[in-house]
Amino acid sequence: VNKIAVLTSGGDAPGMNACIRAICLACEHEGIEVIGYTHGYNGLLRQDWRTLERADVYNLIQRGGTILYSARCDKFKTKEGAELAAKNLDELNVDALIVIGGNGSFMGLEHLQTVWDKPVVGIPGTIDNDISGTDFTIGFHTAIQTAVESIDKVRDTAEAFERIFLVEVMGREAGFIALDSAISSGSDHVLVPELFTSAAEELVKILDKLEVRRKNKTNPSHIIIITENLWPGGLQVLADSLASETGFDLRVLTLGHVQRGGSPVSKDRMLATRLGAFAVESLLNGARGVMVGETHTKPVLVPLEQTRTTTKNLNRYSVEILDRITRLG
Ligand code: ATP
Repeated sequence: VNKIAVLTSGGDAPGMNACIRAICLACEHEGIEVIGYTHGYNGLLRQDWRTLERADVYNLIQRGGTILYSARCDKFKTKEGAELAAKNLDELNVDALIVIGGNGSFMGLEHLQTVWDKPVVGIPGTIDNDISGTDFTIGFHTAIQTAVESIDKVRDTAEAFERIFLVEVMGREAGFIALDSAISSGSDHVLVPELFTSAAEELVKILDKLEVRRKNKTNPSHIIIITENLWPGGLQVLADSLASETGFDLRVLTLGHVQRGGSPVSKDRMLATRLGAFAVESLLNGARGVMVGETHTKPVLVPLEQTRTTTKNLNRYSVEILDRITRLG
């Protein structure tokens, strides 16, 4: 392997830069040339790239976002798109491609492999933590930290007015961010897709807790954390139902894209650095068509296909704990 290309794709996540840096430095160590394609798979189609040398990644480990930019790219999903990408990679004599991204980006790698015979490796970079085969993804811990800091602040104002807050966090179809930020912020209830039954049933559970709150008068505020896109019709619908049933003062807060930004916390810098270096090492050892990940703090190689065909479960232990400590009774 003489030349490696890297790109970041899909939702951006804090720690992507730290990972680019690690790839660059690990390659330099091995005497491998590195280039970075910009704007996700768009860069591959437009032959839009830059060299990545030590000076380019200096002072980068702590920066949020991605210096290679990220994007979605529908054209790449077509057969012609993959063929053009393969042709462009060959034109630059690229020997291997590393993509930092989420599930969709990994499907992109599988798609590319149908027409390009050089090795590809995926690195899990998404705040949602919804990738099977690795305990954590790059960006997840920072997103939790950001969510928790915001929820702490909201609690102060909720308490002053004895209000109930419904806080929407990201996660796509997964409840990892919601569960961990609910526990870390000491919130009172959490709604995650993995455990959601029906709006009617969930409403009853929330109302039960609010009734306990009314009787006990111990909790001036009440914070409910909810994964995005989960409540049918949106969070305002839930807020309106709860307000009419209880008469409590309710507010909805959508945390939104702040969760994707900011300087990565040290756990994400560590994961990004380890996985970046491990991806380069694995390529040198002949890996192809795999994701590099970590389970129980050990590096692992997982076939790309397996990252989407296997279900990643919420941490049962965390679910039980949350249930026990938020019963309020
Ligand atoms: P996140 O989960 O953080 O949003 P992601 O990688 O899942 O990240 P997507 O928007 O799903 O984000 O995918 C990123 C890009 O990967 C797409 O814009 C497209 O270029 C490529 N991609 C996604 N799905 C496929 C597919 N089935 N075939 C080929 N390419 C794909």
